[in-house]
This record gives sequence, C-alpha cells and structure tokens, in this order.
Amino acid sequence: MSDKKLTIAIDGFSSCGKSTVAKELARKLGYVYVDTGAMYRAVTLYCMRHNLIADDGTVDEAALKNNIENIGISFIYDPQTSKNTTLLNGEVVEDEIRRIEVSNKVSYVSRIEFVRAQMVRLQQDMGRQGGIVMDGRDIGTVVFPNADLKIFMTASPEVRAQRRFDELTAKGEKVTFSEILENVNQRDYIDQHREVSPLKQAADAHVVDNSQMTRDEQFAVILKLVEEAKAAKK
Ligand code: C5P
Repeated sequence: MSDKKLTIAIDGFSSCGKSTVAKELARKLGYVYVDTGAMYRAVTLYCMRHNLIADDGTVDEAALKNNIENIGISFIYDPQTSKNTTLLNGEVVEDEIRRIEVSNKVSYVSRIEFVRAQMVRLQQDMGRQGGIVMDGRDIGTVVFPNADLKIFMTASPEVRAQRRFDELTAKGEKVTFSEILENVNQRDYIDQHREVSPLKQAADAHVVDNSQMTRDEQFAVILKLVEEAKAAKK
C-alpha cells in the first residue's frame, strides 16, 4: 500500500533552524516545502518599496489594504534541492527579503489582520493536496489545525542569534552580533504578543529544542516523529 501523504506543520521562533529542517524533510519525503516567513517578508518588502511603512514600523494600513490584491507572491520550487525562490510580482527577491532591514520591519506587517488572512488563504490553497512541509508561526494552530504532524521548534535566543549572525556575515552583510540578538528578541516579543495568531505552541505539537543538538541528531528525532505520524494515518 502506498503511503498517504502527510501535512506537516513546523512552527517556532525566528532563526531556530526551521527552514533547514523543513527543506531537508521535504526533499527526503518528496514533498513540497513552503516557507511562510518568506511570504510575510515579501509583503514587507513591497511596503518598504512603496513607502507604506515608516522607520518606526508604523504601516499605512489603509493604503496597504487597497494594494493587497496587487501583491503577487509566488515561488519557484526545485524538488531536487527543495530550494524555494521567492518572487514578488514576478521578480526574484529571495536575497533581498533576507536582509536585516526587512527582518527589522516584518513583525509590524505580519501582525496586521488582513495581511494574515490573505497569506493564510494562499497557504491553505498550497497545502490542499497534502504532501507538504510548511514552516512558520501559526501553521499548526491556524493554517492547518488538522495537520498530521505538528512540530514546535525552539532554541535559546543566543544560539539563534549566533546562527543568523554566521549566515549573514557569510553573505557579506555588515552586522554585529548584538544587533542580531536585539532583532531576535524583538521579533520573539512581537510575534508572541500580537493580537492575531500569536506565535504559540499547538496543544498537540511535539517540542524540539535544538540548542544542544547537532543537525543530524535533530533530524533523527524528527524522522522518528514522521514515521509515527505515518503509522497513525494508515
Ligand atoms: O520565518 P522568518 O523568520 O523568515 O519569518 C519572518 C517573520 O514573519 C516572523 O518574525 C513573523 O513576524 C512572520 N511570520 C508570521 N507567520 C508565519 C511566518 C512568519 O507571522 N507563519
């Protein structure tokens, strides 16, 4: 009997390695991988380019609402590598949305209700067939409350800031560790305290704290959870 295709939700704090795990898992299972953080980042970039967000994070919500239908977000997905390239209205913005300027603003955009409603709709459409690994903040709680497997990933803020720092400096970005740590703490706070779909663990999620785990150890833990979820679905 062929395996039923699972819907796998991976939520957790910023820079805790969700997307690395999700990508690896999707490749191994032959599933589609969707990075929902990239979608909120793309909307934020749109706001920045159209002067809809001020330096202090205030968003011109009326103007954004009028334009929300004009924000086309899509991905080019390579099943061989599980690499997702994010497009904003047809333009590749994959690198630009990872920049610190976007990271500093994204939580102000992702807390807006109509933005979330639009993104959740798109995400549910992408996942309708199953066979998907989606990572984000509200996947197990809001987007796919009936997911076959929910994982909540976490690691200490310092460990996460160090990882993001290494990633950005490797790309040649001029950033300091303290600036990154501040961004991680600030995003954690806003993501956990916003009114709409705050970041929280679903009651039936499996918590994976990877502060002290190697990537291989973490992957082994997650693969075991996948096997259990497959057995439960048969
Ligand atoms: O995962 P990543 O760090 O790229 O996400 C960027 C931001 O997008 C988060 O800090 C959060 O504000 C927002 N986000 C969200 N809901 C999701 C995914 C991301 O609010 N499902």
